[in-house]
Amino acid sequence: MFDSSELRKAVVAEGGLSRRLFLAYGAALSSVPVLGQVAQATTRLRGTDDPFTLGVASGDPDEQGMVLWTRLAPNPLDPDGGMPAAAVEVEWMVAEDEAMNNIVAAGKTLATPQLGHSVHVETRGLKPDHWYWYRFRTADAESPVGRTRTMPAPTSLPERLNFAFVSCQHYEEGLFTGYEQMKRDDLDLVIHLGDYIYEYAGIDGRVRKHVGSEAKSLADYRVRLSQYRADPLLSQMHAQCPWLVTWDDHEFDNNYAGGISEEISADPTEFLLRRANAYQAYYEMMPLRRSSLPQGPDMRLYRGAKFGRLAEFQVLDTRQHRTDQPNRDRSSPLNDFALSRENSLLGRQQRNWLKSSLIQSHATWNVLAQQVMMGMVGFGRTQESLRYSMDQWPGYTYERMRLIEFLDERRIPNPVVLTGDIHSNWVNDLRIDDRKADDPVVATEFVGTSISSGGNGQVAPRNLDQLLKNNPCVKFHNQERGYVRCHVTPKTWTSDYMVISDVTQPGGTVTSRASYVVEAGRAGAQQA
Ligand code: FE
Ligand code: CA
Repeated sequence: MFDSSELRKAVVAEGGLSRRLFLAYGAALSSVPVLGQVAQATTRLRGTDDPFTLGVASGDPDEQGMVLWTRLAPNPLDPDGGMPAAAVEVEWMVAEDEAMNNIVAAGKTLATPQLGHSVHVETRGLKPDHWYWYRFRTADAESPVGRTRTMPAPTSLPERLNFAFVSCQHYEEGLFTGYEQMKRDDLDLVIHLGDYIYEYAGIDGRVRKHVGSEAKSLADYRVRLSQYRADPLLSQMHAQCPWLVTWDDHEFDNNYAGGISEEISADPTEFLLRRANAYQAYYEMMPLRRSSLPQGPDMRLYRGAKFGRLAEFQVLDTRQHRTDQPNRDRSSPLNDFALSRENSLLGRQQRNWLKSSLIQSHATWNVLAQQVMMGMVGFGRTQESLRYSMDQWPGYTYERMRLIEFLDERRIPNPVVLTGDIHSNWVNDLRIDDRKADDPVVATEFVGTSISSGGNGQVAPRNLDQLLKNNPCVKFHNQERGYVRCHVTPKTWTSDYMVISDVTQPGGTVTSRASYVVEAGRAGAQQA
């Protein structure tokens, strides 16, 4: 079994990055016991420490099941979670009632040290469109009970879907108060669009403090993810309904592009090894299917999810497969570099997968759940001097325009783009070229603000009038903290921009700042 320190030694010994080693590393990871298979437990947990400090979670539901997750960690801030270096047997059970009396599925699995004693059970054979409760047990300890649901049958047309999307939860910059309200929102699903953690070292004098220095090793990322997940508001929301998760940059390193660091001096081999650490810890902590199990520094995170024929989600990964940002990550006019057809956020494989998924979709609403802003929003005083973020879709304008053109030409029904990353709220009309305000609107983008990153924000950003005048695609913008709650029916899509009064101390209140509606068959958002 390779661990990353062995891998590093081997790489140093071979004098460079070896694909063979990464494949060996991936193969070693894949050889851990098959989930759900009952193998001999090599140890029993002793003592009275609760191994379920990180709670339970579920995710990636389909019409007959979902992933049930937990991770054994009596001491979540220890690199090994306070667990022995041995596999531990864990029982799981699914019931139709909260009291866990009517058990409909159960089994045993192993929590292995290779995967940080995480448990990912993929349940099957459950009823579609149905709520369930689940729990884990090991030795004498019982986990909290989680609530989850299956998706409706793929051919059915559900009357409604309630979900929320959220992003950017810097632990030091604010409390996760938004999740307190979200728990009361009666949601079928939560979508996390990334920056679930921040990799930075702990800094004094903030709302809370990260444990340790900047995350680099597998142990560092495990501890960081555990510190975040040990937050009861976050953990309880995971136990409330299934989540679809994707990452942005800070799950690994700020503004990375594929294997390229924003720091020119970074050693590419070291950087890829670090990516393997970050991705493995992320997989361990999230309710992801086995199809997302990392292979060395690679991990397949883009995937689809269907809520009957009402909505189909394409969950994207715009970090791992992208080409480097033009203009060394700095903002730029839309010049030849930004417009180059060589630039790609998706990579060819993901782009082809996305297009074929969209063509095959029978859904009323076709949703891209992704990271960075697609609206071509320019910043500057005058139309002539506008600069665009090269870390977002405008740095990859050629691919972006072809994608919107594809949605238009193929008549993909009601495309909606969900975005995180920039710690601010936006509603954008998307056109092939957003600078051409007279062209037809093809899709609608809802950008959701951060749940805590940036601390308390502003209702009215500076120069808002100028921004709106220069960018007719923007319908709404503010910089408060919060999340976006969506109510979807066959006829309308409503996005409520939920904002938090104060994230710096407990007791912040959550209210709806604005609501925007899209009517099925008519692109573009209107204020409700
Ligand atoms: Fe962020
Ligand atoms: Ca980000």
